[in-house]
Amino acid sequence: MRWILVLALICCSLAARADFDYRLEPRQIAESVWLLEGSTDNFAAANGGNIVNTGFIVSDQGVLVIDSGPSRRYGEALRQAIARVTDKPVLKLLLTHHHPDHALGNQAFADVPIAALAGTTQLLAEQGEAMAENMYRLVGDWMRGTEVRLPTETLTPGPLQVGNRRLQLIGLRGHSGADLAILDETSGVLFAGDLLFYQRALTTPGTPGLDLWLADLERLQALPWKQIVPGHGPLASSAAPFKQMRDYLGWLDGVMRDGAEQGAEMNELIRTPIPERFAGISLSRYELIRSVSHLYPRYERARLRRVDR
Ligand SMILES: [Zn+2]
Repeated sequence: MRWILVLALICCSLAARADFDYRLEPRQIAESVWLLEGSTDNFAAANGGNIVNTGFIVSDQGVLVIDSGPSRRYGEALRQAIARVTDKPVLKLLLTHHHPDHALGNQAFADVPIAALAGTTQLLAEQGEAMAENMYRLVGDWMRGTEVRLPTETLTPGPLQVGNRRLQLIGLRGHSGADLAILDETSGVLFAGDLLFYQRALTTPGTPGLDLWLADLERLQALPWKQIVPGHGPLASSAAPFKQMRDYLGWLDGVMRDGAEQGAEMNELIRTPIPERFAGISLSRYELIRSVSHLYPRYERARLRRVDR
């Protein structure tokens, strides 16, 4: 009898966890600007892939959404969360870049233009299927029904008027090869996409180079922002995320540059001690291992080229 009770309790708790509800709670961060903040963990069945920040801006004409999240289910939950805040229609979805946590909720926005930089559409077309497959492996059933849906509108960097809101679209490429940052001029909120990670180790698959990424950060920091929404990590109203990113990128670049100089092996580099000042940054060891495997061969080749010359 006792066993039956225990089994029933286990079943109940499993069912409670398996309701696949992201419980999205939009938080107002400025007048008519809302943030949905994800965790700074890695993709896992426990979070359904909700490790990402998405947001939306409510203009007098309707809603502009920034990123669609990691799955169809997330995209649908985002639509419902928006509808709880405003009865204005969704006008458009803007994608900051093509990575799975930002663009696999697109199906829920099939009724509105899905707008992205040309490079983002191309990269999603090339890599979307493999990224979606990987997400199914990582977070399981949360992904059910998720399919890649490509953008339907190409964005050009520059001003974008949406109802009474004027936005600046900034086209960069340091994180993924095609990265869009969005500055809402009315509120001064900067949606930096994954050009900025804060308190969470940055990811490097697809970066054209850490030097380009650093240059992008300089451009972003010079904008007239008042608050910064990083792609991952907490909202900030100071330049702290920029400072941390520059410090971290410089360290990562130095580890690989020095390693290549000294002819170090990859498996030595991935054991490099993480500096104490990065102790508060989540997943730094995990991402160091990934970054070294993505990027170190480039540093080794660059070193070889110099020797040959
Ligand atoms: Zn991301």
